[in-house]
This record gives sequence, C-alpha cells and structure tokens, in this order.
Amino acid sequence: MSADALAAAASGRSIDLPTPAFDEHHTPSAALAGDCVHCGFCLPSCPTYVLWGEEMDSPRGRIDLMKQGLEGGPLTDSMVGHFDACLGCMACVTSCPSGVQYDRLIEATRAQVERRHDRTRRDRALRGAIFALFPYPRRLRALRGPLRAWQRIGGDRLLRRTGLLERMAPSLAAMERLAPQLSKAERLPDRVAAVGERRAVVGMLTGCVQREFFPAVNAATARVLAAEGCDVM
Ligand code: SF4
Ligand code: SF4
Repeated sequence: MSADALAAAASGRSIDLPTPAFDEHHTPSAALAGDCVHCGFCLPSCPTYVLWGEEMDSPRGRIDLMKQGLEGGPLTDSMVGHFDACLGCMACVTSCPSGVQYDRLIEATRAQVERRHDRTRRDRALRGAIFALFPYPRRLRALRGPLRAWQRIGGDRLLRRTGLLERMAPSLAAMERLAPQLSKAERLPDRVAAVGERRAVVGMLTGCVQREFFPAVNAATARVLAAEGCDVM
C-alpha cells in the first residue's frame, strides 16, 4: 500500500484503490507465470528485446508485468505498451528450458487489455484499420496497385522527408518504413513439383500479408522444399 493510502487509512478517509489490471474472466494463470525462473535464456531469442534492450520488452519482463497485474496492480499505459509491442512470434516459448507457456499467458493478457484498457481514439482507429485490412488477402491485393504506383512516383520517400506521418501517427510511420518495395507479384503455382525423386508432399501456408507483400519469401521456401524432394501444394 502506498504512503498516501496508509495515511488515508489512518485518518479514516476512504481510499481510492486503483482498478486491478485483470478481472476474473480468463485471468492469465498465476501458476503459469510462476513457472518463470528468471533465467533469461529466452532474452536473445526475443526480437523486441534484441531491438530495444529493455527488460520490460522481453518475455521475462512481460511475465513480471503480468505478475504485477495478478497481484492487483493497475493496467497502466506503459504496461499496455509493452504487451502491445510483443510480436507474438513465440520464439521465447521454444527457447525456454523451463517450458514456460508464454503463449497462453500473452493470449489471456491481450484479451484482458482489449476489455479493460481505454485506448486513445487514434489508437482505436489505427487498430481498427489494421484488423479490417491485414487478415484479408483480397483487400491487401487491392492495395498493392495503388501502393506500388505511390512508391514508383517517390511518394513514400517524400512522405518520409517531410516527417509528417511520423508526427501524426508514429506507429503508422514505423509500418510504412517496414513496407517492402513492391514489384510485380510473384504468384506460386498450385503445385511445385519435387526435383528428382519425390520424398514427401508438403502443404504450405502462404499467409495473408506475406502472400501479398513478401511473395518472394514463399517462392524461395517452395524452391528449397522442392530441391529437397518435396512436392509443395
Ligand atoms: S520465460 Fe523461461 S527462459 Fe525466459 S526467463 Fe522465464 S524461465 Fe527463463
Ligand atoms: S512472443 Fe513476444 S515476448 Fe516472445 S519472443 Fe516473440 S516478441 Fe518476444
């Protein structure tokens, strides 16, 4: 309890306790969070930790924040920022020698954040746009043409030079910087035949964003599998 809260209790005044981060509907499991022994083996495998070197942007740090929430701490903006920044890549799950199920922890945490955290209007708009676009390959495909034309006339470089997007919507600016230079779409055939004797048949998930914006990655994957004797469907 804080000094203010103690003073208020001593004087008989009512105390405004902060709203706890989590409610009881699918609370992140305290037992799973307790499995983390803070060894740090997962840190080098976490891209956000490697990028920023911030403890709270590592799996261990995020689990600590979950524990704070489980102990009744409030869901602060900074806490939400660290949860939001997790890419959900789950590289930490396979690198953890203690078998910590971070995937289940972050899944439950994200649902709590969506229910209990008031996002700013700008944040809501950006997230709404992302969820209305990224899971839909057809919508992404429709965006390719205009985006490619925009890149060809140098609109992306001009926008970066003005710094306008950076000032108005830093998250959008970061995404724009990561957008690949689009070339003609490389479509995968329905079946890529194995080179030489067939050893296996592999079903390949081509993804939503990857299929439309990074098709060369899928094409290269199919080539490698075919070279290893796999029919790729
Ligand atoms: S999540 Fe696993 S690897 Fe990472 S600090 Fe905790 S116990 Fe260690
Ligand atoms: S899932 Fe999140 S915490 Fe785990 S390695 Fe990926 S970015 Fe890091």
